[in-house]
Parts: sequence; structure tokens; C-alpha cells
Amino acid sequence: MNIDVERLKEEGELDLAEIVSLPRIAREVVDIESLDDVNVRLHATYHHPYVVVRGELDTVVHYVCARCLAEFARPLSAPFHERYTTDEHKAEDEVRFVGDEMVDVTPELEQAIFLAIDNRPLCKETCQGLCPVCGRDRNVEACGCDVRPIDPRLEALKGLLSDHGSE
Ligand SMILES: [Zn+2]
Ligand SMILES: [Zn+2]
Repeated sequence: MNIDVERLKEEGELDLAEIVSLPRIAREVVDIESLDDVNVRLHATYHHPYVVVRGELDTVVHYVCARCLAEFARPLSAPFHERYTTDEHKAEDEVRFVGDEMVDVTPELEQAIFLAIDNRPLCKETCQGLCPVCGRDRNVEACGCDVRPIDPRLEALKGLLSDHGSE
């Protein structure tokens, strides 16, 4: 998605609306299966020598549940707020130098999505996950496996007892 800086300088402000595809998100985040096309609405203003862009991103994220691996979809809205500069001496870490050409804001759109996604997505808060013993989805049926964590002191004792038994 591009912003025409020359036109922005002439008009002072621009409203932009576009549907963009951001495939890098799903490629880089293991918990995301895919991302619907993103509805981007931006308002850009020029205050010499800065291009200020504010807006909102909306999409639907298809996550993979971190506990049970089921796929589920959840809407996502992310705010967008970036500054660019047309003066290379004013460039900083957070303020990219863009000159007078077309600015591709895709890297910052991706960044806004990265900041808004769930880091540990769960299909539901109460998701029971997969059984670590038999692998069955415990949301679907209880399997009855013994998955209680073993007390490390008991574990040591068990070891001693079996050593004794093998003598
Ligand atoms: Zn789940
Ligand atoms: Zn089980």
C-alpha cells in the first residue's frame, strides 16, 4: 500500500482506503494459519518535514489453538500510527526517511498486526488441550489417562524402591 508524498505535500492531507494482503504474517507466526485480506483506512497529513499517518486495520485471523491445535477465526483490529520524514537529517529509528516518492507502508502495516495478534491463542479460555499421554482432544472426550504431575520426591523414592527390588 502506497502513499503518494508529492500529492500529499500539495494537498496537505489524504484519506486512503485499501484492501491489502499481508501474507508474511502467516508465514512468520506459527500460531497463525492464515490472515484474511486486511481492510486499511488511513489518514495522512503533511507537516514539514513529516508525514504523519494514522488509521485503523481490520481483518480476521485464522489461529491454531496453542493447546488443542484446532483452527479458529477471530476478528482483529489494530491502530496505525506512524511518522515518516522527507528530510534525511530528521530520520530516527521510529521515523523512516521517505523522500518525495511513493512510500510503501507495508512494513509498518505488518508491524501493527504483529503487535496486535494473540501470542498464545486459545480457541476458548477453558480449552482442555490434547492429552499428553494418548494425544486425544480432551475437549471432545475425556480419556481417563493419569496425567497428574509426579512429585519429584516421590519419583526419587520410586527409583530407590525399584533399585532395591532389582537386587
Ligand atoms: Zn483449543
Ligand atoms: Zn489420554
